[in-house]
Amino acid sequence: MKITVEEAITLLKSGRVIAMPTETVYGLAASIFFPEAIANIFHLKGRPSNNPLIVHLGTAADITLYARDLPQKFELLAEKFWPGPLTIVIPVIEDTIPAIARAGLPTAAFRIPDHALTREVLIKTGPLVMPSANLSGNPSATSVEHVEKDFGSGFSVLDGGECEKGVESTILCWDHDAWVVIRLGALAPEDFAPVLGYVPVVIDATSAHQEKPLCPGQLYRHYAPKAKLELVEKISVNAVEAIVGFSDRTYPEGIRLFSLGSSKDPQSAAHELYAVLRRLDDENIAHAVVDMNFPSQGLWLTLRERLQKAATSL
Ligand code: AMP
Ligand code: MG
Repeated sequence: MKITVEEAITLLKSGRVIAMPTETVYGLAASIFFPEAIANIFHLKGRPSNNPLIVHLGTAADITLYARDLPQKFELLAEKFWPGPLTIVIPVIEDTIPAIARAGLPTAAFRIPDHALTREVLIKTGPLVMPSANLSGNPSATSVEHVEKDFGSGFSVLDGGECEKGVESTILCWDHDAWVVIRLGALAPEDFAPVLGYVPVVIDATSAHQEKPLCPGQLYRHYAPKAKLELVEKISVNAVEAIVGFSDRTYPEGIRLFSLGSSKDPQSAAHELYAVLRRLDDENIAHAVVDMNFPSQGLWLTLRERLQKAATSL
């Protein structure tokens, strides 16, 4: 059920959970001032309680209310990439952000989304936690239709059209003496080099620190359709039901193509990714092969990682 900006503000200020657009994906939003609403988000999504949420702010100035300490070059990163698809993990003054949102960690993740409607709401409500608006494990939602598919047509959604980027934010974390990427996303690691003076290393945020993963969310099954996805570098002529591939390539005839757009345009592939994965299920496809013959740099690396996760049945 579509709601107006004013209704969104009223609902959030009275402790309700609603869905809102961002430039990355749709989020399920709750005010940080209502821990019970935050608990409801975990319940609605079926999200494990040790997977912390991102706190979304309306303005960067607010960060000083929460930060215990701002790591080197934080200001430069915020100035260059906010509003935008960068999430930054920093140590927080613990009683300023409910423990349930942080999964009990001494840090919290922050971002300022680049979406006019949602910024308008954030300015009025104050900080909102906003994980992706999908049932845990499912492909993320990039349209109102996707949100309604997972949470029902009666669920309150602020309509911002289709999300521009289509994949989640990139998460940076200060690890001892350098910034590291703990989740790939809409910004490529190379994009940070002009500000940091180095390309942050992409770390496997689950295996390096088994006891205390740097990015707990990466432990879980993600982005997965019901369809079995087979990732291949070359599509063979074997009988398959469907191909997830590119509109400018030729594939064996008679097999349905679910197109990610041009193989020259990672942005359009990112924009289409979750819609394509969701469409496989809408059309009851049991088994699809995915054309993985694309680069491993920039945004392509994010797409590769998302498809690898989507194909994993943990
Ligand atoms: P989602 O809301 O589904 O985009 O997932 C949020 C991601 O942010 C998860 O992968 C979490 O692990 C990560 N995250 C949130 N807060 C923290 C934190 N304090 N430290 C490390 N990762 C975090
Ligand atoms: Mg998510």
